Amino acid sequence: MTDSAFGDETLLLPDSEIICVDCGGNCYPLGWHREDGPVESGTVIAYRCKDCLDRWDVVIEGDNDRTDLHHFD
Ligand SMILES: [Zn+2]
Repeated sequence: MTDSAFGDETLLLPDSEIICVDCGGNCYPLGWHREDGPVESGTVIAYRCKDCLDRWDVVIEGDNDRTDLHHFD
């Protein structure tokens, strides 16, 4: 058991490709590879469109970080 490596940080797996807003092509991450694994919420990943070569900076953040919802009455 490793229980102290990440504390309470929320780790999220970035998309390995996104769709370019401008041309609809596929964009692939720069400086991050799928084998790098999840990143902390709030990490910025840059993507480059393979068709128009536009660069997109995407903030990786979760909207459902309800990891520990215990409720006691
Ligand atoms: Zn594009």
